Amino acid sequence: MSNIEQCRDITELNCLCQIQLNQAIKDIKIAGINPLIVETYRSQVRQNYLYSLGRTVKGTKVTWTQISIHTKRNAVDVVPQRIVDGKMTAIWNAKDSETKKIISIMQKYGFEAGANWVTSPDSPHFQIKGVSTKGKSYSLTNTNSFITKMIQKALNEKINAKLTVDGKWGANTTKAVNKFRKKFGWKEDGKVGVETLKKLLA
Ligand SMILES: [Zn+2]
Repeated sequence: MSNIEQCRDITELNCLCQIQLNQAIKDIKIAGINPLIVETYRSQVRQNYLYSLGRTVKGTKVTWTQISIHTKRNAVDVVPQRIVDGKMTAIWNAKDSETKKIISIMQKYGFEAGANWVTSPDSPHFQIKGVSTKGKSYSLTNTNSFITKMIQKALNEKINAKLTVDGKWGANTTKAVNKFRKKFGWKEDGKVGVETLKKLLA
């Protein structure tokens, strides 16, 4: 595959991002929506190519940045698709009710929605920003407010942790993570790794 080709492969994403996306897709399908994964990982070469369109290369501008979370394997573009006039059609419309449902489900799974951006809103875009892509777990030192909210909510549901869902990972959140981990006999290290995340979101 050439470096500037579009990649739709979920397994090219960061391992934690994959778990969140897979759960979201499950819910999106349960809601009766057929999601189209438009793009997952993007090489920097492709990002630079996209940026050049409408600037140094003839074409229409498609992006406003050379720095994208797609290159960090922590972003995905998703739109609904459905039959329109007898043809399967991707829906690129922020006001579409299925688009709105996708946005709400993706947010539930800790994704920041590009639809909410004040400047240049990007409704198909979902990302996990500001977390280490090398880290295989979320923790006090590796999280963002969207991820923390998702974890706090899940801990409230799974072990009745009674956390305030405020997106601030404090001592109580770590304590609840450890209480949850203990249930499975796992080390109480305050981390939400792949296995913990799977159990939390299941
Ligand atoms: Zn995107």
